[in-house]
Parts: sequence; structure tokens; C-alpha cells
Amino acid sequence: TGQLYGKVALVTGGSRGIGEGVALRLAEDGADVAVTYRDSGDRAAEVVDRVKALGRRGWAVRADAADPEAVRDAVRRTVGDAGRLDVLVNNAGIGVLGPLAEMTPQDIDRVLHVNVRAPFVACQEAAAHMAEGGRIVTIGSCVAERAAFPGSVLYGTSKAALTGLTRSLARELGPRGVTVNLITPGPIDTDLNPADGPAADPQRALTALGRYGLPWDVAAMVAHLAGEGGRYVTGAEIAVDGGFAA
Ligand code: NDP
Repeated sequence: TGQLYGKVALVTGGSRGIGEGVALRLAEDGADVAVTYRDSGDRAAEVVDRVKALGRRGWAVRADAADPEAVRDAVRRTVGDAGRLDVLVNNAGIGVLGPLAEMTPQDIDRVLHVNVRAPFVACQEAAAHMAEGGRIVTIGSCVAERAAFPGSVLYGTSKAALTGLTRSLARELGPRGVTVNLITPGPIDTDLNPADGPAADPQRALTALGRYGLPWDVAAMVAHLAGEGGRYVTGAEIAVDGGFAA
């Protein structure tokens, strides 16, 4: 802890779930933290209050990830308010589950816009502002590593695209000393995938550890990559999945 003092992080979708856990963990490590949200303004404000209670600066920025200009603007506002940007965490994401035949063009656009275009655009804008030592961490999914069940064809397509983004961008930004990595979580207990939901038991059964993870588990890996321990890690895909893809 304390290793991120003086650094500024932006976490997309930081109002709930994994993003909330990441925002708080980075603040515990000393970073000032901006979070974006779309609907949960009150929750985002609570996260910011908790960041401030840790003695750090915090900002909540409403930015619909489906809108590339809003995403770009959230990065610019963070740099404007905080004076710099050291860590970008592309976390906001959605799932539309179902068979191939049921995916409408609207579903396809929405999922690709939020899960792929938004991280792409956020990387573009963030990279323009990051100095040596910058860190980009994107949240993918274990489903792109192991498509264990039918129904994730669209979600899995979107999450697999993040591998290409991560690897190519690691090559492009490496010479500038900016690292780019992908975390692929397994089942994590959030509103999106509650550990007591109807789809929970089959997921739990496919992990090696036989249980769900918590947002904290993903946040700990983000903090590691964002800190000194992550300085020689780039272009990597790191599973935090309880062994789901093993
Ligand atoms: P939640 O649904 O619990 O939280 C999603 C967060 O993203 C909220 O803060 C939400 O904010 C925000 N968000 C959603 N849509 C938008 C949007 N259009 N614009 C801006 N913010 C948005 O999800 P999780 O925490 O579970 O998931 C976070 C990430 O982790 C996602 O990328 C997901 O795909 C991935 N993941 C999750 C797993 C799990 O088991 N939970 C497993 C593998 C990957 P608001 O409420 O304000 O809209």
C-alpha cells in the first residue's frame, strides 16, 4: 500500500461491482481516482465519498460507454481535474446472452460499442496523456478463454476482441514505457452475475476452487499491475477466475 501516491486512476463503470472494488483498492494504495457511470449516480457518489475518506481526491463522471464522445470526454475531464493520468482501467461492460439467432443488430451494436469500442476509444485518449510508467488494464472475461456454455456468442465475441487490443497496444506503447494488460475474471459476485443467481451453480462447478470470487480478487490484480510489481508485465492476459479456464 502507498505505492500509488501521486498517481491518478480512471476506472470506467466504477459505481458498482468490480469497478467499485477496483476504485477503492487503488485509492487504498494511494491513488486519486475518477470513476465513470451511466445510471448509478448515487452509487458513484458514494464510491467517491469513500475514496475521499481515504484521504485521496475523487471524481464521478457520468459517461455512457456506448457514446464514444462521452468516453473521450471523461478521460479529458479527468486529466483536466486531476492534472495527469497514470492508470486507465477499462471495466464497464455488459452482457446480452442468448443463441446466435436471437441476437439483433441492436444487441450486436450495443455490446460491441460498450465492451469493445469504449475501451478502444478510452485507450486512444488516455495514451495521448500518459507519461512513462502509465498503465492500462482492461477487464475481459474467462468466457473468451473457455466458452463453457452456449449463450455467450455475442459477449464472448466482444471479450475476445480485447485480446487483440491488449497485445497490439502493448507493442505500440511499450517504447513509451506504458504497459497494457488484460484480466480475465471468472464468476465474480456482482449484480451482473450474483453468486445466488439461477446461473451460479454451473459456473461455480466449473471453477477449480468451487466458488465465486469477489470484486476484491480482481481489484488486487489490477493494483498489482498498476504498481511497481507490474512494471515488466505487458501484453499479458491474466486469469483471476478460480481456475475456470484451467
Ligand atoms: P455490474 O453490472 O455489477 O457493474 C457494471 C458497472 O459498469 C456499473 O458500475 C455500471 O454503471 C457500469 N456500466 C454498465 N454499462 C455502462 C455504460 N453503458 N456506460 C457507463 N458505465 C456502464 O458488472 P460487473 O462488475 O460484474 O462487471 C464489470 C466488468 O467485469 C464487465 O466488463 C464484465 O463483463 C466483466 N466481468 C464480470 C464477471 C462477473 O462474473 N461479474 C466475469 C467476467 C467479466 P451504472 O450502474 O451507472 O450503469
